Amino acid sequence: MADPSGFLKYGREGELKRDPRERVDSYDEFVLPTPPDRMHRQASRCMDCGVPFCHTGCPIHNLIPEWNDLVRRERWDEAFERLDATNNFPEITGRVCPAPCESACVLSIDRQPVAIKLIERNIADRAIEEGWIRPRPSRQRREESVAIIGSGPAGLTAAQQLARAGVQVTVFERDDRIGGLMMYGIPDFKLDKRLLTMRREQMEAEGVVFRTGVDIGEGVNANDLLGEFDAVLIAVGAPRPRDLPVPGRHLLGIHQAMDYLTQQNRRVQGDWIEEPRSIEAADQRVIVIGDGDTGSDCIGTANRQGARQIVQFGRKATPPSTPDPTTPWPEVPFRLETSESQEEGCERVWSVRTKRFLGDAESGRVIAVETVDLDWGPPDANGRRVGREVPGSERRWDADLVLLAVGFVGPADTLMKQFGLQATDVGTIQVDADGQTSRPGVFAAGDCMRGASLVVWAIRDGRVAADGILRYLDGQRAGRERHAHPRPA
Ligand SMILES: Cc1cc2nc3c(=O)[nH]c(=O)nc-3n(C[C@H](O)[C@H](O)[C@H](O)COP(=O)(O)OP(=O)(O)OC[C@H]3O[C@@H](n4cnc5c(N)ncnc54)[C@H](O)[C@@H]3O)c2cc1C
Ligand code: SF4
Repeated sequence: MADPSGFLKYGREGELKRDPRERVDSYDEFVLPTPPDRMHRQASRCMDCGVPFCHTGCPIHNLIPEWNDLVRRERWDEAFERLDATNNFPEITGRVCPAPCESACVLSIDRQPVAIKLIERNIADRAIEEGWIRPRPSRQRREESVAIIGSGPAGLTAAQQLARAGVQVTVFERDDRIGGLMMYGIPDFKLDKRLLTMRREQMEAEGVVFRTGVDIGEGVNANDLLGEFDAVLIAVGAPRPRDLPVPGRHLLGIHQAMDYLTQQNRRVQGDWIEEPRSIEAADQRVIVIGDGDTGSDCIGTANRQGARQIVQFGRKATPPSTPDPTTPWPEVPFRLETSESQEEGCERVWSVRTKRFLGDAESGRVIAVETVDLDWGPPDANGRRVGREVPGSERRWDADLVLLAVGFVGPADTLMKQFGLQATDVGTIQVDADGQTSRPGVFAAGDCMRGASLVVWAIRDGRVAADGILRYLDGQRAGRERHAHPRPA
């Protein structure tokens, strides 16, 4: 039973963090440990509200009120058991999830929500410290084998679920390290990559085989996998970046955000990036085009590299400072947010469109970006607002380095072509409720079927696909048995 009056006694107390001006000296995580009394107070604010909307707010339906109460009563091991029941990687979501559960918390209606993500992180970190995250190999071994293409959160989740059900799992990853965007997209200051190593070791002990440096569809034809494995899961993400094809795009010094972020994550891992390929912001005037999370990660990285100045462009109008009425509780409110990276220093400019890049004729490098202001006017009959260029509002921004963070357009289509899969209207892989594609025995999960999304959704998709694959394998097995032992006529 939760403390029914905890929320009246205590306010929200979130993560403790290093000072934004100081933490840019390092790529280490900047969230500080939470003192036990602070954790106790926060867990006590969960009031057992009867209909826990946070469950539906969380894509994996974490049992939030249950573990909140167990933390309040200092029964951390049981809290971890309840968290582990629904979430394969709580130490990761506890760090990087944008916590839609908190928007859905009943306290959010008229006060600050419980700091659910913080509690989740603390349970997971406690479990690591205490050694509760142990391999859980299956006691039974099934004869079937499954190939998983891609080792992001969707592929890893499905691999763990299937291995624990006794299936023989091989994960093919084209990169040299596992983790997908958790390894080479999300910066180290948000997610310590040793956590991925810990999970790799756990999963190997559970029987998962990792084959890194294997690009399925290039060296190995995707269809060959179907001859070797009983089912295949495609979990290749949606890595194709959207471009910004305006005049001057060819100039040196203009890069896709992911090329930039990947390099820095590699440097932190000890890799050497050769000089002509190396993209660095030290002493540069940096323009980040795109106001999403990827843009924010570029700002955090550029500040750590010692950028001279950082300006971030957003095309949309400045979001409202209070929640927009079109996103009422329990939805995630649309309002102006400031990310931790933005807190560390940058100028944010809204309602601008990039018109062209200007370059230095001799060096071929970008020297400036030209923009025009947009007037967003009121919404039309369909609720859509159109940005109209304001005549005479052209501006020129000096720049040495431009980072494009304007979104992703879907998965690479090699595998879709080789398997002959149906695509959705937006170019992602079409699946049914079991995560199965238009080709029997081939499943898809994560960003490649959903479009660029979040780690927590990839975990959910990985679990759904693993359940779907098990049902498919059971069906195939039943079919084989019927064939081997036909009923007498
Ligand atoms: C910069 C950035 C920051 C982000 N920050 C956050 C955040 O803070 N919080 C959050 O929740 N989400 C964040 N996201 C989104 C999140 O990382 C993704 O939604 C999630 O990783 C998708 O998981 P996935 O398993 O579908 O694919 P991915 O993580 O993209 O993994 C796909 C894997 O498949 C491999 N692969 C691709 N093709 C092949 C092939 N042919 N053969 C073999 N392997 C292949 C790739 O190398 C990759 O390792 C961020 C995304 C980006 C780009
Ligand atoms: S995974 Fe995300 S949405 Fe779910 S409980 Fe954790 S922080 Fe909330």
